Amino acid sequence: MSVQVVAAKMAEVELKDVSAGKALPAESPVTPTSEDKTLARNEPQKEAGSSAAAATTPTAEPSAKAGEGNRGLLTPSAAKMPQASALKHSDPQQNGGDAFVNRDGTVAEAPRMKKIQFADQKQEFNKRPSKIGRRSLSRSISQSSTDSYSSAASYTDSSDDETSPRDKQQKNSKGNGDFCIKNIKQADFGRREIEIAEQEMPALMALRKRAQGEKPLAGAKVVGCTHITAQTAVLMETLSALGAQCRWAACNIYSTQNEVAAALAEGGFSVFAWKGESEDDFWWCIDRCVNVEGWQPNMILDDGGDLTHWIYKKYPNMFKKIKGIVEESVTGVHRLYQLSKAGKLCVPAMNVNDSVTKQKFDNLYCCRESILDGLKRTTDVMFGGKQVVVCGYGEVGKGCCAALKAMGSIVYVTEIDPICALQACMDGFRLVKLNEVIRQVDIVITCTGNKNVVVREHLDRMKNGCIVCNMGHSNTEIDVASLRTPELTWERVRSQVDHIIWPDAKRIVLLAEGRLLNLSCSTVPTFVLSITATTQALALIELYNAPEGRYKQDVYLLPKKMDEYVASLHLPTFDAHLTELTDEQAKYLGLNKNGPFKPNYYRY
Ligand code: NAD
Repeated sequence: MSVQVVAAKMAEVELKDVSAGKALPAESPVTPTSEDKTLARNEPQKEAGSSAAAATTPTAEPSAKAGEGNRGLLTPSAAKMPQASALKHSDPQQNGGDAFVNRDGTVAEAPRMKKIQFADQKQEFNKRPSKIGRRSLSRSISQSSTDSYSSAASYTDSSDDETSPRDKQQKNSKGNGDFCIKNIKQADFGRREIEIAEQEMPALMALRKRAQGEKPLAGAKVVGCTHITAQTAVLMETLSALGAQCRWAACNIYSTQNEVAAALAEGGFSVFAWKGESEDDFWWCIDRCVNVEGWQPNMILDDGGDLTHWIYKKYPNMFKKIKGIVEESVTGVHRLYQLSKAGKLCVPAMNVNDSVTKQKFDNLYCCRESILDGLKRTTDVMFGGKQVVVCGYGEVGKGCCAALKAMGSIVYVTEIDPICALQACMDGFRLVKLNEVIRQVDIVITCTGNKNVVVREHLDRMKNGCIVCNMGHSNTEIDVASLRTPELTWERVRSQVDHIIWPDAKRIVLLAEGRLLNLSCSTVPTFVLSITATTQALALIELYNAPEGRYKQDVYLLPKKMDEYVASLHLPTFDAHLTELTDEQAKYLGLNKNGPFKPNYYRY
């Protein structure tokens, strides 16, 4: 059965506007623009699709051969969705707030806990727990492996067993030992975690059902490097149900849920990952995924670009058989664009980071749901009536502001962009400069993607008990380094919670050392990850099945119809009823009844 038909069955397809023999419009790659430069700040290249799309003419020449036009594209109809036309292209001392202030307003001496003095030992902060003592200090770990935000952090800890998984011989119940994880005995626990995640990942479960035994990924050998969490496990098991063989490593040394890795290994997946890997372990695990006798990957699913980088560096010849790369993170996408610019990208790549469904849901809704969780778990703070300043009113800032406002906080916003600033005003937030409110606020949250948004001068002026945290990608937004000075005392009061104490006993509460709060200190909603994981699965299907020539050695966005399809797969969860265009309306708007429903430049 052709992939076309399989895709059709999976999606209850109606191949209405793509008649046999009619080729799809050519896809233009999303070429790097001047905006790529902003990626140097670790910002998503939000407008990439738009600008590229704007440069795409509807009359672009077909690149696929006649008759192959729709091969590999999911074209659902239940929601009358895609006809494929590829788009080109975790005790603070209950003192989080004012608890350190005496009734007379003087600052009280707070109970002392484990201290980290910085007078003559700044390097203390670079020390890692012994579990990860293998890490080479000669080279810092890649940003993606420590700061990536694209999936949930593990909230389950590893066992007390200090033996490195690399020194253990483990086999699953079927005698298979092609994996390296913390403890295979945790498999049952991990299986329950996966089953819980399945409840909130309807689209992936629907893809499995819709495949109805067909295997659009038959023959696909997917090597993956992502966070290894229950949600990723649902994705991997979906890929497997669709026919793919998978070998997997973790893209982050801390985020692996060991019990989930165990469940995957028990289920026959070759997983090489555990929580608290050293850097050496990190690369060893990646290598074990690709450097294996009798098995060579033909698809890459990466989050951060480390896997792709490793193959480029060590096994460049593998690219002869690789049909495509699917990349989900800002950082990894940036690397791909760099390769593309340098003419060194040797296979097509799909940038799923900039899919509408990723940007609009992961950034906005994920943060709206997880900001409160991260703050609560670390500080037990009450939000009602608290004054909060949110720096940056992009997608992440909007999510944070909405959640805090709903809890009764008084929210201020800082912005540099007048458009986002006006949005903040019209959403009912006071637009201020940070200096204007820094003395009075209880909580400071950064989400700009920028650097040095909160600097020492601000930190010096904050009131006692002010909570400071970051929701942006990198730990550059708060100048944490400026706090590592002799006159300041650091107290680690909880995991991920430091009190920084000034000589006059004023303290601020710094969360996750300025790293991503939600990923470091809470979990993120599975449903949102479902959306992202579905885009990854569809991107793999698309690249794997695309006819020769549809995609060149460039970076592409997920076709718009697939973005719409990802959304449509999540609607039944809400018993949502989508309105269908009448023929007359479709004609009036110049749309195909089955989508895509918006031009590529539409901003949502
Ligand atoms: P965005 O570009 O939509 O918004 C950032 C906003 O910050 C922009 O409006 C910009 O004008 C503003 N800004 C820049 N510098 C500023 C400054 N000095 N002061 C005040 N405002 C400033 O980006 P986004 O999608 O909101 O993402 C923001 C950051 O969060 C990025 O680093 C992104 O990678 C990260 N992110 C985090 C999560 C998470 O789960 N925590 C999820 C998605 C993205």
